[in-house]
Amino acid sequence: MNSLSLDPKTPVRGRLAPSPTGHLHLGNAWSFLLCWLGVRSAGGRLVLRMEDIDPERSRPQFADDILRDLAWLGLDWDEGPDLGGPFAPYTQSERLERYAEVIDDLTRLGHTYPCYCTRKELKTMASAPHMEDVGPIYPGTCLGLGAAERREREAQGRRPSLRLHGKEEVHFRDLVHGQVQMGWAECGGDFPLRRSDGVIAYQLAVAVDDMDQCISLVVRGADILPCTPRQILLFRLLNAQAPQYAHVPLLLDHEGVRLAKRHQSCELRALREQGVSPKAIVGHLAYLAGLLPTSAPAAPVDIVDGFAWEKLPRNPVKLGTDVEMSLRGLS
Ligand code: GLU
Ligand code: ZN
Repeated sequence: MNSLSLDPKTPVRGRLAPSPTGHLHLGNAWSFLLCWLGVRSAGGRLVLRMEDIDPERSRPQFADDILRDLAWLGLDWDEGPDLGGPFAPYTQSERLERYAEVIDDLTRLGHTYPCYCTRKELKTMASAPHMEDVGPIYPGTCLGLGAAERREREAQGRRPSLRLHGKEEVHFRDLVHGQVQMGWAECGGDFPLRRSDGVIAYQLAVAVDDMDQCISLVVRGADILPCTPRQILLFRLLNAQAPQYAHVPLLLDHEGVRLAKRHQSCELRALREQGVSPKAIVGHLAYLAGLLPTSAPAAPVDIVDGFAWEKLPRNPVKLGTDVEMSLRGLS
């Protein structure tokens, strides 16, 4: 069982939340496996949620392939776009009206303001320490604009994004990192809920879905940690209880570069085509996570009992240079 204070009275509900912007690679497999293990070892249910609202990057074909790859790895879920469930729909692009409704509520409560800054202006603003993840710090340029100034900008043809106004420091306990405390500026400052082209921001959609789908445990990559205070603030403003968070370390290639789409040899479908078995992958990832003593083939269900948050490393984990070879050797 999980020893790190998951409330035994609350049924655990976790989610696998892929974005259909590419094929799954070992880095995705790693965080989804750890999520699955964390939730299942607590006797929890899993929701599969397809996060497809980024119109430039999402492709329906990737969504189908991701479901297939996850199932191939031996990861299952109880509710999702393919299975339905009590909180359907589980595809974000089918929930746009709900996001608009929440944005209206937040606006009525006075928590938002239109921002007319152009992309170019935003780019030149001060950089945050986690710039890659949260973007430049937004200094609140448009916060104090009066009605006349807003009209003037709209008359120039500027279409505003809508930002959430926050200022608090957020702290929370992470199951991997322990106590985390972050100031608002450190998280990037006031952030958009809706882009100027109308696209809903990831932060808003994720918080609304976690709330509506009664998610109690969020397990995801440490790259998202700087965004978590934004989501916790949204929960607070919406009078909802934030889930518990576990940000698992990132998996890096042997040179220390985060696994991404360009690592085509690390894509699950490439490994499958080379004859690598899903158990070889799962066993190797579980070994790197400190959950197995050696890299030996294993199915996710074989590892559930040995799972504990304390065993997971806190720092990024590197794949060896020989990972493909060793995976092939295990098949
Ligand atoms: N869909 C996001 C991604 O693939 C993950 C969101 C989350 O876990 O909160 O990066
Ligand atoms: Zn602005």
